[in-house]
Amino acid sequence: MVSRPEPSGQNSDDGAIIMEKVYHSTRSTAERAGASEAIARGLAPDGGLYVPAFLDEVHFDLEALKDLSYPDLAETILSAFLDFDQEQLDACIDGAYKSGKFDINTLVQTTPAGEAAILELYHGPTAAFKDMALTILPYLVTASGKNTGEDREIVILTATSGDTGKAALEGFKDVPGTKIVVFYPEDGVSTVQERQMITTGGDNTHVVGVEGNFDDTQSGVKAIFSDLDLADQLSDEGFVFSSANSINIGRLLPQIVYYYKAYFDLVDQGRIQMGDPVNFSVPTGNFGDILAGYYAMKTGLPVNRLICASNQNKILTDFFESGVYDRNREFHKSISPSMDILISSNLERLLFDKCGRDARAVEEMMDRLAEEGVYETDKALFPEFFAGYATEDETRETIRDVFENTGELIDPHTAVAEKVRRDYVEATGDDTMTVVLSTASPFKFSQAVYESLYGDVPEELDAFSLQEDLAKKTGAAIPAPLRDLDEKPIRHNYHCEAAGMKDAVVSFLSEE
Ligand SMILES: *Cc1c(COP(=O)(O)O)cnc(C)c1O
Repeated sequence: MVSRPEPSGQNSDDGAIIMEKVYHSTRSTAERAGASEAIARGLAPDGGLYVPAFLDEVHFDLEALKDLSYPDLAETILSAFLDFDQEQLDACIDGAYKSGKFDINTLVQTTPAGEAAILELYHGPTAAFKDMALTILPYLVTASGKNTGEDREIVILTATSGDTGKAALEGFKDVPGTKIVVFYPEDGVSTVQERQMITTGGDNTHVVGVEGNFDDTQSGVKAIFSDLDLADQLSDEGFVFSSANSINIGRLLPQIVYYYKAYFDLVDQGRIQMGDPVNFSVPTGNFGDILAGYYAMKTGLPVNRLICASNQNKILTDFFESGVYDRNREFHKSISPSMDILISSNLERLLFDKCGRDARAVEEMMDRLAEEGVYETDKALFPEFFAGYATEDETRETIRDVFENTGELIDPHTAVAEKVRRDYVEATGDDTMTVVLSTASPFKFSQAVYESLYGDVPEELDAFSLQEDLAKKTGAAIPAPLRDLDEKPIRHNYHCEAAGMKDAVVSFLSEE
């Protein structure tokens, strides 16, 4: 959006690496942007995703990073990718990671679980891993806006099937220069998820229940984004739309940090020696989380295997096994809903890197995906990946087994990753230390967790008392953001049909 600043490599305080931080699109390397511009834009104008052209030149020294706190580690890693000045970056880190938004002061925690380790990424304001990036994204977006000469107020529009909406609301809540409007399908989110959203505070937040399902809601948001008359009208009034979607490079980069942190935790715990390789097992949906692991590996983290774990929507398992990505298949609703996805957008960034940075090849594959729902590449391109999946029954069994054998209560997404880790060990005999990424508090998915451990939920328990009963039975604590939700005041009560979503946005923006 707006002017193009000179991409610069000024940041590095020791002057060690001076390089141009140019980003370009996965579909055309001629489509170039600086970091701020890439973040401010979100999607490249040609429909591709921005990737750092300089990725192969970024290399972190493990010894230099190993004793850093999470915020300092984040600062060091992000400064290698961004064109912000020191003061801007400090402000981003402070706002996200030093302002008490997380319920443990290490922000993340690596817990031993049998032969493996669990990386708890759910200690943020909404008790899910999306907080790791969505707490900092608003600061990255507003700083990027400033750096690109944007003086309009940034209006974030998001359609959510549950978790992203709340994490985005908490992230953008009261961030100066922004407003956020979240649309959720009335037929598509759980009672707890809805309550989390409609009780959100902040003067710049808006939440709308849309009659219909997630597809209706998402189509409505896309229609607003592509309404150029509306964009013109709002621009005159001082507003510009943006998105908190996971294809924004500003959401991806902060996720590299916790891979390094988990590694140093294992070194501190004496479970590995500095320099030893580790594996990561990642419950995967849109492929953002695991791609950050790949970027960690490319920038110097000793990673042996990245284990891509899916639920019964196993399009990625089939892809890594055959080289064929085929979305022409049945869509299943599962107990790990954040992985119920047939288009894993961030896979495009991996394809780009693996296909010799050949943007034309990527564009052809993405065109075929759009037109025929299928594309093909060489499965031998991905030696550092292993892929597998868990059925619903296997997911429940794993929740039970992990609780009985280690005392750790895990959510269904984490259970999928643990199940596939076990399959990996069985298939390969590899005894490399493996970190299972835990992406949500089990209390976000109380019903599935309860059923896995104790069978059918008694009828008299509603969604809220179920959480309390689960806590009592297991001895685990309900995270603060999920506690007493039914007693918090409801602050948002706007409902409309999909056709009324545009009017909702206009009316919010003309308030005050
Ligand atoms: C979003 C999400 C995932 C999937 O992460 P991707 O980056 O989309 O692959 C896994 N688990 C939970 C709980 C999530 O919210």
